[in-house]
Order: sequence, then C-alpha cells, then structure tokens
Amino acid sequence: MVFENVSKTLNKVSKIMKLNEVEMKTILTFKRIKKEKLEVEGETYDAWRIVHNDSLGPGKGGIRFHPNVSEDEVKSLAFWMSMKNSLAGLPYGGAKGGVKIDPKILVREDLEKVSRAYIRAFHEVFGEDTDVPAPDVNTTPEIMGWMLDEYEKIKGKHAPAMITGKPLSLGGCKFRETSTSKGGYIIFKELLEKEGKSEITIAVQGFGNAGYNFAQMAYDDGFKIIAVSDSKGGIYSPDGLNITEVKKVKNESRTVTAYNAEKITNEQLLELDVDVLVLAALENQVTKENVEKIKASYILELANGPVSADADEVLFEKGVRVIPDILTNSGGVIGSYFEWVQGKTGHIFEDTYLEERLEKIMRNNFKKVYELHKEKNVSMRTAAYILAIQRILDAERARGNI
Ligand code: NAD
Repeated sequence: MVFENVSKTLNKVSKIMKLNEVEMKTILTFKRIKKEKLEVEGETYDAWRIVHNDSLGPGKGGIRFHPNVSEDEVKSLAFWMSMKNSLAGLPYGGAKGGVKIDPKILVREDLEKVSRAYIRAFHEVFGEDTDVPAPDVNTTPEIMGWMLDEYEKIKGKHAPAMITGKPLSLGGCKFRETSTSKGGYIIFKELLEKEGKSEITIAVQGFGNAGYNFAQMAYDDGFKIIAVSDSKGGIYSPDGLNITEVKKVKNESRTVTAYNAEKITNEQLLELDVDVLVLAALENQVTKENVEKIKASYILELANGPVSADADEVLFEKGVRVIPDILTNSGGVIGSYFEWVQGKTGHIFEDTYLEERLEKIMRNNFKKVYELHKEKNVSMRTAAYILAIQRILDAERARGNI
C-alpha cells in the first residue's frame, strides 16, 4: 500500500467536502516522522514511528514487524489510524510504527532484543499522553510486554497506559481479544436491520482472530455461512457450514481445508453469489482484476484495506455496498482504548460493561455513517471519511491552528 492510494481517496473526499487549501494542507501534514536504525546481533534494521495528526489526543496505532515495511507504508497506516480513531469518537490521533524485518526467521531471544531496541530508539516519543503503540502484523502481546518492560526500565516508573495489547498479567484487557470481531458483528447486524434483511448467506475470507470470531458469532445466532477460507484455501457448503466444527478441525490440522466439505480457492470464495462477503484476511483482495466478478450485495471490511481504491469506485457504480474498514474494524482500537483507560486510572471494568459501551459506540457510529451516505448519495467509505476529517478539522479550529 502506498500513500498515493490514500491521497486518491482523500482527493475525492476533499472535493465533496469543499476543503480549502489550508484545511487540505492540515490533513496532509504529518506531525512527526521519526526513523532510526536498530542494531541487533550484528544486523541493522530500519525502524519508524510516525504520528499523522494528534489534534484529538495522543497518537494511537500499532507497530508492524514485516520485511516489506517502508516509510510510505507506515505513513499510510498512520493516516488511516487518524481516520479510524476520529470516526470512532476516541480521544486519539493516528500513529503507526514499523520495523523492516522478517520476525519468522528470528529466534525468540533475538525477537526480544529487537523489541527492546525499538523502545530504546523511540522511548522519547512514546507515553500515555503523547503516543501509544499496540500490536499489529507479526507483533504480539508478548512483544508488548517486553516493550513495556524496557520503557519502564528507562523511565524508572510504571507506565501501563503507554502501550496496549499487553499480556493480561501486565494490565492487558481480555475483552480486547474479541473486540474487533464483536464490533464488526454489531455493524453487520445494524446493517441488516437498516436494510430490512434477515435470511441471508455469508462467506468469510480469513479464519483468524477477526474472521473466525465473527463467523462464530454469526453462526451462533443462526446465520448461514456457506464458505470460509484461510491462507491454504477455502471450503464451501450451500447448506451452511458448522463453524464450531470447522474451528475444531482448524485447531487440529491448522487449516479449514481439512474439514469435510467442497474445496474452493480463495478467488472462488470472493466470487461466490452470497449476500454478504466478509473480508478478514489481507489488504487488496478485491481489485480492478476481479471486481467485475464480485456477486455479493454487501462487503464487510473487517481487514484493513481489503478493497483497492479503483475497485471501490466500480463497486459503488455496481450498487455493491462496502462497509468500510475504518468503521467495521474499529472495535479493535475501541478495545485498546478501554485498556488504556484502565491503565491510566487503575479502574478495572467488568466485561459486560465494556460490551455495552462497545455496542453503544459502534451503533452510534454506524448510524452517523449510514445516514450521511444516504443523505449525500455517496459510498459509506466516503461518508466515513467526511465525518472523520470533519472532527479533526474541528479540533484544529478549536486550537486556533486553522
Ligand atoms: P490473523 O493472523 O489472526 O488471521 C488472518 C487470517 O487470514 C488467517 O486465517 C490466515 O490464514 C488468513 N489468510 C492469510 N492469507 C490469506 C489469503 N491469501 N486468503 C485467505 N485467507 C488468508 O489476523 P487478524 O487479527 O484476524 O487480522 C485480519 C485482518 O483484520 C488484518 O487486515 C488486520 O489488520 C485486520 N484487523 C485486525 C484487528 C484485530 O484486532 N485482530 C483489528 C483491526 C484490523
């Protein structure tokens, strides 16, 4: 993903919003781009921490460990986090970090050394009220634990709210594990209610944290899921899959394809004639190459950026409703926000309370996006961006910056 893609979406939205030059410049300006080199066991790794905008509160966003990480990518992801956090109504700006590294070839000890080196390089910019990191691709609660420990050693004090996605034993929040899928499922149900649909078929791409938990919730509520997939391929049953059993097989064999059902490819899953296609795997799955073959009426983006900007326009023209990632998967960062509040205040909230809060926030945000999309006859993505940008510009105006 390149920043060019972000600019494309932004240019489109800015025309509808009639943003002036100063407003546009404000949205395109990054607060901080910090790059360092991490030296670990004789190897050097490029590393970044980038804050896009922090007018609404401290930067918030994950740290990615991946061989393809680049400054362009981290900038795009930080921008995206600004949009997501703003739309969600959180007191956060947008940030992201990354290390250009393949963690799969590192032994655990070296992974720990890289994680600690990252904090030594960036500890000055992190803090509960400045910039709050979290896990992202290939970074885990265990890594967050090492990072917290390194940070606290440097600062000489406890600082549980400087990072989220921590292990439970260090102030992590159990609720966070399923907050993304729960949030996505609330959006899904709101959508069906608004559109007056009930008897529907679903296909889910990706059977990990987001995809599996979403599928299980839908299955438990009696929805018919006719296909699911993981990186090894997919399975299909027109009468509906038993998700509980699929999960058992996945746990034993590490893939859903070992389940006794018709095998399909990931490409075929995307092109199935279903009501709702849930994308919960990777970015750029629906692109201009396959968009004409998409038959679903609704696409729910649980993954980040699974529909490319070009494909998005075609889908809008075709009347396929895309429920955008910055709305659908925002339950994840809302779960992180709950963990941050717990860390800052020392209060420990009951899961039932957090569930109620999440439901209220997601329903309210869905309503705002859905109504604007209808009122302005724009895609739900455009509506979501308009709301997110408006809130950031309001904060900039209130600060007297524009
Ligand atoms: P995960 O690693 O738990 O699961 C990813 C799943 O996708 C796995 O089942 C994997 O086998 C499958 N997959 C990989 N390549 C595939 C391919 N080519 N075709 C089909 N399936 C493939 O990850 P996750 O946490 O569930 O995240 C999934 C997406 O959701 C990512 O885009 C992530 O950024 C986004 N997301 C997740 C969270 C969260 O809290 N987990 C929050 C916000 C956004």
